[in-house]
Amino acid sequence: MSQLCLLSGIAKTKRRRFLGAASVKPWSFIISIMFESYYPKKFCREFVQIKGSGQLVNIMATVKEIKPAMDDWVRVDRYDEYRRICKRYGLIVRTDTVFRMSKKKNILKNVIGGKRLTTTYAFGLPFNGSSKDGLVHVFIAKSKGNLENCFRDGWYPLIIKHRVIDRPGIDIFKFGYNLGYPKCCVGFFRQFNNWYKYSYLYEAFKNTKKNRYHYLSNPCTRDITYSYIYHMPCAYNCKATIELARKIKKAIYAEEPEFVEKIDRHLKLPLLIFYEIKFYAFDGEIKNGKLHYKDVYFIGQMSENNLYESDLKRGNCVFLEDRDVVILNNGKLIRRIRWQRRNFAPEIPFIVQFN
Ligand SMILES: [Zn+2]
Repeated sequence: MSQLCLLSGIAKTKRRRFLGAASVKPWSFIISIMFESYYPKKFCREFVQIKGSGQLVNIMATVKEIKPAMDDWVRVDRYDEYRRICKRYGLIVRTDTVFRMSKKKNILKNVIGGKRLTTTYAFGLPFNGSSKDGLVHVFIAKSKGNLENCFRDGWYPLIIKHRVIDRPGIDIFKFGYNLGYPKCCVGFFRQFNNWYKYSYLYEAFKNTKKNRYHYLSNPCTRDITYSYIYHMPCAYNCKATIELARKIKKAIYAEEPEFVEKIDRHLKLPLLIFYEIKFYAFDGEIKNGKLHYKDVYFIGQMSENNLYESDLKRGNCVFLEDRDVVILNNGKLIRRIRWQRRNFAPEIPFIVQFN
C-alpha cells in the first residue's frame, strides 16, 4: 500500500438505519419514506443515478452558482461518467487523490500526532488511470478561479512516514470561505471543532437563544440528502446561514418543488443529539421539555454509534434529567442512559426541534 495515508473527517459513507416503522398504523407509510434517497424528476438526476443523493443539494447549489465550489468523492470506475455529467451542467472538474477507505487499526501504529485524528481514515493514491477501486476526491465549480481557490486550500491531514502533517489554520479558514460558508460559522468552527474539549453541536446550541432554532440552520441531516447547508453553523439561528439556505431553497424550488417540501419536513423533525456523529430523529413532538414520539431513526454516522436503537424503539417518550437520557413507554421506565465524562468526543445530550 502507498506510503501516503490520508486521514480526515470526510467521505461519509454510512448508515441510515431505519428504526421502527414496523407497524401498519396509518402514519407508518409516511414514516417509512423518511430519509430515503431522493431522485429528482429532472434537475441533477444523473448525479443521483451514479452516486446517490447524499450531496445532491450541494451539487444543485453549485450548478446554480450559489455555492462557488464544492468537493466530492466519486468511485474511480464512475469518474468518466461523472465528468461528462458535470460538463452537461457547465461544471468544471479537478481531480485530487484516490482515497481507499480503511479501518483505524490498519493505519494508526506509532504515528506521531495520530491521537489528534478523528473519524475517517483512508490510504491515498495518485489518480493516474491505474486505480481500479477507491474514491477519487474531486473539486467542481462553474468558474476556473473558484475551482483553483478551492483546490489550493482543500486538503486534509495526512500521514507521511509515521508523522501527521496537519493543515495550517489559514488553509482551513480559506477552504471554508472557498466553499461559500459564512465567515461567522468558519470562525466558530475553528474555535470549537476540538474533539478533546467540545461537543460542537452542543456549543452551537448554547450559542442560540432558547426556542429560536431555525430549520434553515439545522446541520444534522446534511449528509443524508435533506438539508440546505453543508457546514456547521455557529448558531441554530445564524442569520448568514439562514440567508444562504433561503437562496438555495428558492433555486431548488424553481426546479424541483417536491424536493423542497421533503427537505423542509425532514429538517423539522425533533432530534436527540449525543454528539457530532451520534444522534436520532423522531416522528414526534416536544411538550414541556419531553419528546413524545411514534418512531425513531438513527441518523448519525457508523453503526457502532447506534447504541440505543432497541431501547428507543421500545419507548414512546424521551427526556433529559440532569445529563441522563431517560426513555419511557407510557410512563414506565425503559432505560436511563447515565451521563459519563469522556476525554475524547465528549457527549452532552440535548433535545432540540427546528422550526
Ligand atoms: Zn454563522
